[in-house]
Amino acid sequence: MIQITELNKYFGAHHVLKEINLTIDSGEVVVIIGPSGSGKSTLLRCMNYLEPIQSGQIMIENQPIGMIEQQGKIKEMPQKQLNLIREKVGMVFQNFNLFPHLTVEENITLSPLTLGKVNKQEANKVANELLLKVGLTDRAKAYPEQLSGGQKQRVAIARALAMRPHVMLFDEPTSALDPELVGEVLQVMKDLAKEGMTMVVVTHEMGFAREVADRVVVMDQGKIIEIDSPDIIFQHPSQKRTKEFLNKVL
Ligand code: ADP
Ligand code: MG
Repeated sequence: MIQITELNKYFGAHHVLKEINLTIDSGEVVVIIGPSGSGKSTLLRCMNYLEPIQSGQIMIENQPIGMIEQQGKIKEMPQKQLNLIREKVGMVFQNFNLFPHLTVEENITLSPLTLGKVNKQEANKVANELLLKVGLTDRAKAYPEQLSGGQKQRVAIARALAMRPHVMLFDEPTSALDPELVGEVLQVMKDLAKEGMTMVVVTHEMGFAREVADRVVVMDQGKIIEIDSPDIIFQHPSQKRTKEFLNKVL
């Protein structure tokens, strides 16, 4: 589903992702953990090319995203081509990023309608199916400010799913929530995983990682320092820095 090869990313002189190699298989749930500033968000944002990269390659379903080779030269790909690949990659952010002036239903139908994928009737039907899936059928006409944080994040997930993505990226989806609202969002994510959605999740929810992840990626200072099953990472990590990190968060 996603193949990242020798990826390097800089912000100015700051080398924030260093020789990243990572392959994510279809149907897999991969959780990324690591200290603040280690590059987790940047790596996730590179996966749908929200961040340009300086070297290396990212492939989505065997198609390069962002950069293409043309007559022996590496170039930025045309925006149209980039957008088509991006449709396969849904993203959910820490702060929901819902449009405040649109209802829940309008938030969910905006992209499919704007892209002319469906007519209004079909878009609304899909929105209602997705609201059922995230447990919010009664909130279709509400505005974001009328919702709790957990409800907003569930709408954000439904909105991403409305584009029928092949993979979903989550960047700390529960970090902005009050503790009592975390569970309802994690439950929606667990249901998605059960249905076979390919997911890449940056989170500090170690319970979720243990229960749901097929593999856990540990990042530190811009590098992947360890990738293994949750059992190994949480019980017998091979890296000292993984142990130190887990001691702080568990
Ligand atoms: P994490 O998500 O693991 O906390 P980030 O990917 O957000 O880490 O950040 C990795 C490093 O890149 C940090 O040192 C951060 O300060 C830096 N960084 C992130 N975004 C930007 C940006 N837009 N401009 C400059 N530096 C950035
Ligand atoms: Mg982050």
